[in-house]
Amino acid sequence: MKVLVPVKRVVDYNVKIRVKADRSGVDIANVKMSMNPFDEIACEQAIRLKEAGVATEIIAVSAGEPKAQETLRTALAMGADRAILIESTDELQPLAVAKLLAAIVKKEDPQLVLMGKQAIDDDSNQTGQMLAALLGWPQATFVSRLTVADGQAEAGREVDEGIQTIAVKLPAVLTVDLRLNEPRYASLPNIMKAKKKPLDVVKPADLGVDVAPRLQYVQVEEPSARKAGVKVGSVQELVQKLKTEAGVL
Ligand code: AMP
Repeated sequence: MKVLVPVKRVVDYNVKIRVKADRSGVDIANVKMSMNPFDEIACEQAIRLKEAGVATEIIAVSAGEPKAQETLRTALAMGADRAILIESTDELQPLAVAKLLAAIVKKEDPQLVLMGKQAIDDDSNQTGQMLAALLGWPQATFVSRLTVADGQAEAGREVDEGIQTIAVKLPAVLTVDLRLNEPRYASLPNIMKAKKKPLDVVKPADLGVDVAPRLQYVQVEEPSARKAGVKVGSVQELVQKLKTEAGVL
C-alpha cells in the first residue's frame, strides 16, 4: 500500500512572528522555516505503518518554493522513500494545494493520504477536507489513534467530548492531530542517505492545475497585547480580588 504524505514548509513554531509594517501578511524574511509539526506526525505515522508491514512505500509531497526541497529531505531522512516537489513561487491557498494533491493522487494511486490537520502558518484546516471532496474519498479528520487493516482505517478522532472512533474504507484521506504519536528525529546516517533518495520536481502547469488565489487577504494584525498579571499574597486576597475586581464570585 502506497501512502502519500503532504508536508508544508512553514515558519518554525519557536519563532516569534512579526506582522509586516503594511499589514499585508507575516514577515518571513530571514526566519527559520521547518516542516509543519502536524505533517511530522503524519510522516511518523506513515513510517510506523511501513515498519508494521502495512505500508510499502511512502511518498512525501510538498507544494511551494524551491526551498521546500529541504522540508522534503527532512521527510526522506525520517523514512519516506521518495519525494515530489510541486514547485511554485505563487501564493498557494488551500484549494489550490488540494487540487495539486488531487492531481498527484491520480498519478500515484495511493491507498492513503496522511496529512496534518492544519498548517500552523495560516491555520486554515481546509486542505485535507477539500482533497477528500475533490477525490470523492472518505475522510477522517483530527486523528489521534489509528489502525489500518483489511482495506479500512479505524480512526479515533479528537472531538470536544473526547475521542470519536470511526471506520473509513480505503482509499481515504486522514488528517492527524497532536496526540497521535511523537515524531522521531532523523539520525545523521539517515540524513546522509536522504540526499540520495529520489526527489522529482513538477510544476502546477504540468498537473493542469490553475493555482490562482480565490481569497484576498484584507489585513493581518497582531493580537492585542495582554495585560501583565498580578501576584497576590494570600488565598484570602485572591478571593477578595475575584469578588471585588474581577466580579466573578
Ligand atoms: P491547511 O489546510 O493549510 O491548514 O493545511 C492542512 C494540511 O494540508 C497541512 O498539514 C499539510 O499536510 C497539507 N498542506 C497544506 N499546504 C501544503 C503545501 N503547500 N504543500 C504540501 N502540503 C500542504
